[in-house]
Amino acid sequence: MSKTFSAKLLKWFDKHGRKDLPWQHPRSAYFVWLSEIMLQQTQVVTVIPYFQRFIERFPDVNSLAQASEDEVLRYWAGLGYYSRARNLHKAAQKIMLEFQGEFPRDLAGWQSLPGVGRSTAGAIIAQAFGEFGVILDGNVKRVLRRFYATHEADEQLWPLATKLTPQKSIIDYSQAIMDLGAMVCTRSKPKCMLCPLNQECSAYQTETVQNYPAKKQRKALPEKEKYFLLMINEKNEILLERQPSPGIWGGLWSLPSVDDLQQFPQQALEKLPSFTHTFTHFKLTLKPVKIRVSTSLQISETLPQAWILLKDLSKYALPTPIKVFLCANDL
Ligand code: SF4
Repeated sequence: MSKTFSAKLLKWFDKHGRKDLPWQHPRSAYFVWLSEIMLQQTQVVTVIPYFQRFIERFPDVNSLAQASEDEVLRYWAGLGYYSRARNLHKAAQKIMLEFQGEFPRDLAGWQSLPGVGRSTAGAIIAQAFGEFGVILDGNVKRVLRRFYATHEADEQLWPLATKLTPQKSIIDYSQAIMDLGAMVCTRSKPKCMLCPLNQECSAYQTETVQNYPAKKQRKALPEKEKYFLLMINEKNEILLERQPSPGIWGGLWSLPSVDDLQQFPQQALEKLPSFTHTFTHFKLTLKPVKIRVSTSLQISETLPQAWILLKDLSKYALPTPIKVFLCANDL
């Protein structure tokens, strides 16, 4: 079965697989690692322009390690899940300091780096070095659950993924299984008629594809709300605060936020229309409030702060909803 599986997949890949992704030319360990981190939770089309800007500024692991976290986050801003960028930066520094600038060649070495789990390490080993490495990312899990018509927990899928991974053509196979999940065995409306595995796929053969993977009972997300202070001084500068790390926007610059407005004189406040932003674990209602101040007030004693002109916004890494809000508002 495993031979047929990989042979069919590789044949399909020859014709339909993605072979012109920017991190495949050249296929260096740095490019593969960076792309694998960017591709966690994010689709290829979204990643490509970020990847290209990123490697222009940080062409190698040394330049990444030397940069400030602030600058790395600026090049990541908009891609979300910012702990990925912070971990990438820490990992680059670790590679320079503890690995003398050489990328690890084995799974354990990669997994010792911040932000690199078992599947990412397997993908890097396979893609960058052409050595046996097993991938079990979200796409691959979905393919396997359908192919075997199983509701097994993630951990139980590792032996199946390992068994199906061939010893040869590992670079193409690892790309092929990811491509199949992203392009054919998609979350909704899988294109089973075009799938090279449909003859052996248990879910397809039993017409139960829609049952795999099992739908999670979606709990209503908890809701939070916060006031975001658009403070403007006499020079028409606004106040930004660097958010604490770890935290949802850790390391990014945002408007100061407070739970209530009691500390401010009501007549100085201008409430602006609220908007919501959904995170993985909660929904946040952002209630912006404009406040004109005559002096450059200190709101927080612990967070780094900057009074900036709106035209200088691009020099700071901002969370997307705050950036969109600021760009849409005249001061
Ligand atoms: S036949 Fe359909 S469900 Fe089965 S692996 Fe292919 S695309 Fe996925």
